[in-house]
Amino acid sequence: MRVGFIGLGTMGAAMAANAARAGFEISAWNRTPGRAPELAALGVHQAPSLAEVAKASEIVITIVSDTPDVEAVLFGPDGVAKGAAPGTLVVDMSTISPSATRSFAERLRERGIAMLDAPVSGGSEGAQKGTLTIFVGGAADDLERARPVLESLGTTITHVGPIGAGQAVKAVNQVILAGGYLGVAEGIVLALKAGLDVQQVVTALSGGAAQSWVLSNRSGRMLANDYPLGFKVALHRKDLRIALELAGETGTVLPISALVETIEAGLIAQGHGDDDVSAVARAIRQLSALPG
Ligand code: NAP
Repeated sequence: MRVGFIGLGTMGAAMAANAARAGFEISAWNRTPGRAPELAALGVHQAPSLAEVAKASEIVITIVSDTPDVEAVLFGPDGVAKGAAPGTLVVDMSTISPSATRSFAERLRERGIAMLDAPVSGGSEGAQKGTLTIFVGGAADDLERARPVLESLGTTITHVGPIGAGQAVKAVNQVILAGGYLGVAEGIVLALKAGLDVQQVVTALSGGAAQSWVLSNRSGRMLANDYPLGFKVALHRKDLRIALELAGETGTVLPISALVETIEAGLIAQGHGDDDVSAVARAIRQLSALPG
C-alpha cells in the first residue's frame, strides 16, 4: 500500500520509519526540507511538494503541530486536497480541535476524499517503538482501510465514534495528564523540601495507588530539574486550549486544566516552551524557593 506522511517532526519521523519497516511504500513531505535524513535508508522518498505526496498515496497521514497547520497542509496552495485523487483517505494523527476536524472532513468529502481523525498517545517513546495508543473517529470502513498501517504505528487502536470523536478522546487524555504531571511535580517538590530520599520515595510509591506513567517515567527529570524531549510544553498547552474550548462548548468546568494551561503559558514566556511537559515542576520548584 502506498502511504504518504506529511510532517516529519518528533512523532512523524519515527512513525514514517515504522511504517517503512513494516513494508509500506512511503512518500513524505516536511515543511522544512532536510529533516529526518535517516528515513532515506529505509526507502522513504521525500517529495518536493505536498500535492506530489497526495498524488502518490492511497492513504495520506498528517502529523503536524496544530489546527491551522493541518488546515494549511490540507487546503493551502498546492495542498493535499489539490493533489489527492477522489477515493484517497486522509488520516490526521495530529492533536487538533474536534470541531475544526469535522469541518475539514466535510470540505474533503466534497472532493471525494475521506477522512479519519486518529490522534495518538504514548509520547515520542511510543512513536519510536510502534506502541502508540490511537483513538479513531470516522467511518468504520475507512478505519478498516487504514488499520494495516495504523497497526504498524500502534498497539491499541480504538474506534471511538464519528469524525472528531478521536480528538475529543485525546482532549480527555490531555486533561487527565495535566493533573498527573502537576500532581507528580507537587509530590516530588514536597519530598525534596521535606528532606526525603526522592528516589526511594518514587520506588516506595510505585507499588501503591499513586503509581502512574508520569511518576515512573518523568519524576527523575523533575528531581534533576532537566527536561529533555519528550513532549513539548508548548504542544501540551495547545492541547489544553483545545480541551478548554471543548469544555466551553459542553459546559464543563476544568479547574486543574485551566491552572496547568496558565502555568505552561508562564513557562513558555520564560523560554521553556520546548522543554518536556514534566517542566511544570520548574514552576512548583520556583514557587517553593528551589532552583527552577
Ligand atoms: P514537532 O516535533 O514540533 O513537529 C511538528 C511537525 O509539524 C514538523 O514536521 C513541522 O514542520 C510540522 N508543521 C508545523 N506547522 C506546519 C505548517 N503550518 N505547515 C506544514 N508543516 C508544519 O511535533 P511532534 O511532537 O511531532 O507533534 C506532532 C503532533 O503530534 C502534534 O499535534 C502533537 O500535539 C501530537 N503529539 C505529540 C506527542 C509527543 O510526545 N511529541 C505525543 C502525542 C501527540 P517543520 O519541520 O517545518 O517545523
